[in-house]
Amino acid sequence: MFSYRHAFHAGNHADVLKHVTLVATVQHLTQKETALTVVDTHAGAGLYRLDGDYARTSAEAQDGVRRVLAAGGLTPPLQAYVDLVRSFQTGGKAAVYPGSPFLVQQQLRAHDRLKLFELHPTDWRALAGNVAQLEVGRQVAVLHEDGFDGLRKFLPPPSRRALVLCDPSYEIKSDYERVHTLMQDALKRFPTGCYLVWYPIIARNEAHDLPRKLKNLAQRSGRSWLHATLAVKSGQRGAGPDAPRPGLAASGMFVINPPYTLAAQLQQALPQLVQLLGQDQYAGQTLESGGG
Ligand code: SAM
Repeated sequence: MFSYRHAFHAGNHADVLKHVTLVATVQHLTQKETALTVVDTHAGAGLYRLDGDYARTSAEAQDGVRRVLAAGGLTPPLQAYVDLVRSFQTGGKAAVYPGSPFLVQQQLRAHDRLKLFELHPTDWRALAGNVAQLEVGRQVAVLHEDGFDGLRKFLPPPSRRALVLCDPSYEIKSDYERVHTLMQDALKRFPTGCYLVWYPIIARNEAHDLPRKLKNLAQRSGRSWLHATLAVKSGQRGAGPDAPRPGLAASGMFVINPPYTLAAQLQQALPQLVQLLGQDQYAGQTLESGGG
């Protein structure tokens, strides 16, 4: 059914961008006492061994989170991310990387709720097992369901405060349109929710169109938005028929109804990420926001 396994990519530059944005957003949203519901429509396995077989195959974390962990003088949003990642690396577990479900759960209060969708049977089983170890009872629900279809049942949430992370693998071309449709529907059901969408920047029309469509949607709906991108290298294949494929070179985060503090935090974090993760002269970042 699926060939994508996030374990191959855990801790890469795309995870760093996504998770820095996520951690800063949750940090802001948990400052207000009212309960928060977080929905992760594509949760993955939750915890990854960076020294496991999958991670060793690509060693993407080497050029991602490991560079950030090794750096000093981090800006506050990167420091907050690194502190959270390190909190999973105690007791000799130096090579564990927390995925989005665990980065979120670690920041929640007892009265907040976390809903996790994962469709891949193996990753769902791993996620359910990892979450069970937390012994947090009803705080976290793990659903072996399609996250695109399932989100609607949690919107609007009882406390009228929600954060949704939509982080598909985009291995099926239709995922791009499903993300757009999902956001259209979510904004109708719950216009004030905070929505984070990750997408790859690759040479494919659908990938190019997605942020433009999300921006139009946010503007038409009268919502504020923020769009951050991070490129670590050229996305072009080298010369010659045998030149290696470059791998993912860049990705973006599109946020609808971002916390008012997020733009300033990313303004600090993104240039430092380019410095730490950049691999050639094509490394760069952009940050754009509007609406509201
Ligand atoms: N959000 C995770 C993180 O940041 O740690 C990574 C998620 S990974 C990029 C995408 C996941 O979505 C994969 O584990 C894949 O099996 C799962 N998936 C693919 N299609 C899905 C669907 N329609 N509903 C729920 N999960 C799906």
